Amino acid sequence: MWRLLRKWSEGDNSLVRNQTQKNSSQSFGAGFFTSRLVAGDDWSVEPALGMDGLDKSGMYCYNTIVMLKIPTFYSSRYGADTHLLSMRKLPLIAAKADELGLVSLIEPKDVQGVRKRLESLHNPAYVDAFLNGKGKLAMSNQIDWSEKVRDGVLESVAGTLEAAQLAVKTKSITASISQGFHHAEYDYGGGYCTFNGLALVAQELPQCKVFVLDCDEHQGNGTKGFTERLTNLYNFSIFGSYFGNPDTLSRAWDRLVIGWNEYESALAEAFITILDVQPDLIIYQAGMDCVAGDGMSKAKLLADEVRERDSQVFSFCRDMSIPTMFVMAGGYHEKYAIINHVGTFRTACEVYYGHSGYRTATTS
Ligand SMILES: [Zn+2]
Repeated sequence: MWRLLRKWSEGDNSLVRNQTQKNSSQSFGAGFFTSRLVAGDDWSVEPALGMDGLDKSGMYCYNTIVMLKIPTFYSSRYGADTHLLSMRKLPLIAAKADELGLVSLIEPKDVQGVRKRLESLHNPAYVDAFLNGKGKLAMSNQIDWSEKVRDGVLESVAGTLEAAQLAVKTKSITASISQGFHHAEYDYGGGYCTFNGLALVAQELPQCKVFVLDCDEHQGNGTKGFTERLTNLYNFSIFGSYFGNPDTLSRAWDRLVIGWNEYESALAEAFITILDVQPDLIIYQAGMDCVAGDGMSKAKLLADEVRERDSQVFSFCRDMSIPTMFVMAGGYHEKYAIINHVGTFRTACEVYYGHSGYRTATTS
């Protein structure tokens, strides 16, 4: 049993202690061990323990495992066959994260309602052009228009909004396997972004200060522009590549970085800024196109460094008790982008729930 415990805890002694206390009445939010895995399908489910008895070491152990998972909005309609991975990667991320026991997938409910909301956020002429595939505007996102692309964008934006609403409601962590669409401006799209789902959250949660921590490789120009339209929207962009909009704005911060040392300093600045703003919600754009080798990266982060970035962000949000929702943002390497994005879910589970997803677990 101890061999198994060590395997699961990976040196996290607090986890082992938590899971083997003799008082079985406590609830806990960490992953557990033994022969049968029972996934909590509902994010609000209380862990149910089935006490198995004493093992040789004198510790109680249990035969039921509840692994809390990240409540994550996703539907199979999110994906589309885009030439880059931008929308093509979304089903692959969902499938892998689900297989590893990292996510509790939730379908967006109000996809139709989001159409109307987008007409308030963007120029209605642009919304109409995209929804109906009219002219160049419909492809200003640099993606060939199709009904599947349109439907995927709408589902994805609806999921982003509902994930944000759930994070605020539960005062915890949620996600959507969407891109944030941070390049989308008021009048048009750009850089594989159609409608700005990040700004939409601020529009639909006017009572909340919404702070976007944008860690994509590219500057979040669209979201930055929307801070002038939405006074409850804040945007801190840490990027390796400029993407227009060099203006200095009162609720938007830009940090151009190369390498981990500069990145970590910018991250610390972002945390200080967040403490100053005291937002009601953080939206974390967990971009993976800043990883060296992804194809677009000038920030040149190593895989370990981007994992450290995720860990610092989630630990900060957890420690400060700030509701947090994260989205995928960029990441285009055909093979490694999926692994890196799934890694963000793994890190979130480690920070919030103390487990790293399913492993092969056999009793000894
Ligand atoms: Zn990008």
